[in-house]
Amino acid sequence: MNRVEVKKDNLCLNRIEEKCINCGMCLKTCQSINGFENDCINCGNCILTCPSGALTPKYDYQKVLGFINDTDYTVVVFTAPAVRVAIGDAFGFPPGSFLEGKMVSALKQIGFDYVFDTTFGADLTIMEEAKELLTRVHNKNLPMFTSCCPSWVLYAKKYHPELVKKLSTCKSPIAMQGAMIKSYFAEMYEIPKEKIISVSIAPCISKKYERSLYPDTDFAITTSELILMIQELGIDFKNLENSQFDKLLGKGSGGGLIFGVSGGVMESILRTAYYMENKENAPERFYELLEIHGEKDFKETTVDMKSFKIKIAVISKVSTIAKNYDKLKEYDFIEVMSCPGGCIGGGGQPLVPIKDLYNVRHERIFSMYNEDKNLKIKASYLNPEIRDAYDCYINKRKVILHANHNDIKNFTNNNKKSIMETREEK
Ligand code: SF4
Ligand code: SF4
Repeated sequence: MNRVEVKKDNLCLNRIEEKCINCGMCLKTCQSINGFENDCINCGNCILTCPSGALTPKYDYQKVLGFINDTDYTVVVFTAPAVRVAIGDAFGFPPGSFLEGKMVSALKQIGFDYVFDTTFGADLTIMEEAKELLTRVHNKNLPMFTSCCPSWVLYAKKYHPELVKKLSTCKSPIAMQGAMIKSYFAEMYEIPKEKIISVSIAPCISKKYERSLYPDTDFAITTSELILMIQELGIDFKNLENSQFDKLLGKGSGGGLIFGVSGGVMESILRTAYYMENKENAPERFYELLEIHGEKDFKETTVDMKSFKIKIAVISKVSTIAKNYDKLKEYDFIEVMSCPGGCIGGGGQPLVPIKDLYNVRHERIFSMYNEDKNLKIKASYLNPEIRDAYDCYINKRKVILHANHNDIKNFTNNNKKSIMETREEK
């Protein structure tokens, strides 16, 4: 077999057979990023290197437009951090241009009733995951692995079930925001949740699979689908004025924003965990943890949390797990993202010339950290909308922000001895 297999029931990926020239690039990409072939974990990177445009996300945007045109429904959209630094590629902007304001205007022109920011959901994930990290540190239940990349979680379930109990139980930012839209938002705006359609826009095709697990998100569409919507509706993106996200589940912190880059989840959780542990803001180092910035597949450092030190690793591409498996037990907290450079390199991003992919990712990473520097609120616990959400709702009601990853028997036949058992035996 010369090319990746795209099964009929794949929720995320589509191949247009008439366009395929059988070049084998998709298989090469899958081998290099995931370390295997013909077992799709939905990262979608094959889309970005297919020279003939034969591979695409499985499109859902037309169904979304159908709901926008149906006045019976309130259609709520929320956009992941990495969309705003990639959308400009399709409209003649230099790579990495930070176009949040134009993106919000475009979403309003498309006709979404409310436009929220998934950086709010990321701030929620950070709050929950920082708490979980501290509990695990104090209970000596380490390492903990991040769980916000559904392709990584699926890979762990299939290939390393012994790691599943070490995954954070936190849902991803999109799954948390979906849950908040169907509860908090629905109650605050007195809209029956059956009449709300929640739509996430992300750089990621894997979120289409994830939403099948957490259906509070009705549709998960990609940056490239948003671009098609803008083009098909004839919106003059280049000349749009800037607009702002709506309030309640609106713009999040710098920590929420850098979730879109490899190392960003780690850095933002440590900012908030430091505050939760010590009741004081983290030192400056936590606002530019340079050792874990950039596109290297494996990054590591040790961070002084005042009352303890934490050894961290940041991994992109799941093939890096296999290459470094034996040393994972040396770390306390490990971030894993399936795409090179993190979500800014997701398979749902617009196509750019294959030879430019690395540089384009680099510009997106730079743009995200640059915006984090400019933002006044850089840590999730300082976000007033997050404080309100906890005070008015989450602390009083049952919102399901955590996941159960225990469906592993559906996936696996792997009985490898846990590296964590090895750690405990040491
Ligand atoms: S990369 Fe695209 S054109 Fe080449 S074999 Fe794969 S699907 Fe076909
Ligand atoms: S790294 Fe981000 S874009 Fe890539 S599969 Fe994971 S969540 Fe999706």
